[in-house]
Amino acid sequence: MALIVAKFGGTSVASPERIQKVAQRLIAKKQEGHDVVAVVSAMGKTTDELVALAASVNTSPAKREMDMLLSTGEQVSMALLAMAIQARGYQAVSYTGWQAGIATDDNYSSAKIDNIDTHRIREGLETGAIVVVAGFQGITTEGDITTLGRGGSDTTAVALACGISADVCEIYSDVDGIYSADPRVAPRARKLDVVSYDDMLELSSEGAGVLQARAVEFARKYKVVIHSRSAFSDAEGTLIKEVAPSMEQAVISGIAHDTSEMKITMRGLHDEPGIAAKVFSILASNNVSVDMIIQNVSTDGKANISFTFPGSQKENAMEAVNRAAEMLDASQILIDENIAKVSLVGTGMKSSPGVAARAFKTLAENEINILMISTSPIRISVVVDGSQVEAAVRCLHTAFGLDSDTIFEETQLSAEEIAAKMNKGR
Ligand code: ADP
Ligand code: ASP
Ligand code: MG
Repeated sequence: MALIVAKFGGTSVASPERIQKVAQRLIAKKQEGHDVVAVVSAMGKTTDELVALAASVNTSPAKREMDMLLSTGEQVSMALLAMAIQARGYQAVSYTGWQAGIATDDNYSSAKIDNIDTHRIREGLETGAIVVVAGFQGITTEGDITTLGRGGSDTTAVALACGISADVCEIYSDVDGIYSADPRVAPRARKLDVVSYDDMLELSSEGAGVLQARAVEFARKYKVVIHSRSAFSDAEGTLIKEVAPSMEQAVISGIAHDTSEMKITMRGLHDEPGIAAKVFSILASNNVSVDMIIQNVSTDGKANISFTFPGSQKENAMEAVNRAAEMLDASQILIDENIAKVSLVGTGMKSSPGVAARAFKTLAENEINILMISTSPIRISVVVDGSQVEAAVRCLHTAFGLDSDTIFEETQLSAEEIAAKMNKGR
């Protein structure tokens, strides 16, 4: 008998029929003698719809009220799932984040879990019920509802698995595991059996939306093994766990892409100490999270600075940059809204020189211009024009020998759902 945490994402609970399927699946686990805690996301695109609803009444809503609103999505699915289980003659009890004892800081919209009091979940399990917990939410010490950032139900699942010392943390989604690239963008992507925490954290941080980066960080810290698998099939998925480095390790484990960032260039800045400090202090004070930065100095002694940031922070970024430009006498500000970042990730890169050269040569042969470059010991990222993102992912995937013989086949998703997935981040 095992103690299982099973998380189902938005697509997996998008309709009453799919909720019934999830109920069946959980009951089957119960029948096998396991104790089950389910974590659910909001149904389908509910969270996006709630974001749009908020924007229709206030263009910059208070974060506290946003969390109040967005947390309702998960409450709908948790109650429906509990009802669906009960309708089949099995016991179930649903808990909100705060009922489940998830205490967070008060950083609304991306709160961090401080601790979990699992007594209520344990009580629920002791009565023989399947416990259903609303993902993505917690509560501050003041009693205010918080959310854990987009995709945060993954973090709820990992944190609960850690809190109740579960034997396994299963994360069910519409793909049957972690692939060497987003299989919807690179249909020749290969399903991976195992991915190390380090590689997965880098892939998630660089845009592989299949697992929230914070969930992977949490799992790595507390050694929670994640099993990423399909809500629509019984196929074995991918294990995310600690992997000892080996001689035969692949140089590249996977490729991530991210179309959600934008790029700003400030031209004609004075080339003197303190200029970059001023620009980025103003951006920081406007809560803009800067990703890549390039500075170059031209022969006339003027400097240009380019940087990337999340597109959702465009207003704040532009306001900050305009303010900085006035203060520092910049001659021009340019914004490029349609960029994409493509990242090659692999712990094996550390011991294999020439990866960057091969990546840049491949992009050049495919006439893809590189706008920016950044690296870490286990990653190389390039920024390219948004129109070339798919071509870039595919040619790099082929060049690094990652292509599978088979082509990714979509299971169960409607054409509309696939289109929504493809547009995510744009
Ligand atoms: P959920 O709604 O269940 O949380 P997500 O949409 O957040 O699911 O994550 C699943 C999606 O992640 C897939 O549909 C896929 O398009 C995308 N994805 C991106 N990168 C990868 C990858 N390397 N492997 C698998 N899926 C990926
Ligand atoms: N519903 C939230 C979102 O769409 C949290 C999640 O699905 O994990 O981001
Ligand atoms: Mg997700």
